[in-house]
Amino acid sequence: MYDLIIVGGGPAGASAAIFAARAGLRTLVIDEDKGFTRRAMVNNHLGFPDGITGPELVELGRRHAERSGAEWLEGSVTALEVGGEGVTAVTEDGQRQEARDVLLTIGVRTAVAESAGVRTKPGSEPRIPSVVDAQPDGRTNVDHVWAAGTAGDVSVHTIITAGDGARVAINIISAQRGERHVDHDVLQAPTG
Ligand SMILES: Cc1cc2nc3c(=O)[nH]c(=O)nc-3n(C[C@H](O)[C@H](O)[C@H](O)COP(=O)(O)OP(=O)(O)OC[C@H]3O[C@@H](n4cnc5c(N)ncnc54)[C@H](O)[C@@H]3O)c2cc1C
Repeated sequence: MYDLIIVGGGPAGASAAIFAARAGLRTLVIDEDKGFTRRAMVNNHLGFPDGITGPELVELGRRHAERSGAEWLEGSVTALEVGGEGVTAVTEDGQRQEARDVLLTIGVRTAVAESAGVRTKPGSEPRIPSVVDAQPDGRTNVDHVWAAGTAGDVSVHTIITAGDGARVAINIISAQRGERHVDHDVLQAPTG
């Protein structure tokens, strides 16, 4: 059983996975790789003064998440079964993966949320027909199911969806641990 399954591996999902895995949560990302970001040329993301293509950003996100300890499964989640102590994600090939919590970072593809009884609503940004109706902390109306990124209606900009994935992951980590989570590394003083 995983501590956290993240459905969707765009900027929001990869960023959430980095925080969750670094916090020691057993983390699985399941991604069908049909996201918005694959089609973008991104010139407004902090840290890339010369711009970065969407595909590069997605690939760097996956590499960073895996290096942080997250597992990554290529595939499409077709159903979420909620009950008992957690959630089961079922993929199109019939694989079943269980977790204490599931985070939906599914961009504009909200079908799997709706099939699990997760409430959706019209998106507030142009060309976003549907998003998850999430609470400010990322929780949805279904226990153990959270949402972030474009799916959480925060924005259609990579810097914000990535940040929102991290924000909601911190909320999940904090809820599982019962104390507020902070992930800081400190620059070591030069020796010699
Ligand atoms: C043409 C274009 C240009 C853009 N240009 C810019 C720009 O210049 N600057 C900028 O900041 N933003 C830009 N964006 C927007 C930006 O790419 C997105 O708004 C943002 O990155 C979305 O991040 P996300 O992680 O929330 O969703 P996405 O990147 O859409 O990722 C969602 C992921 O979830 C997966 N998924 C969905 N459902 C399932 C499922 N059931 N099972 C498994 N996986 C699933 C998808 O396949 C996808 O990989 C552009 C978008 C487009 C389309």
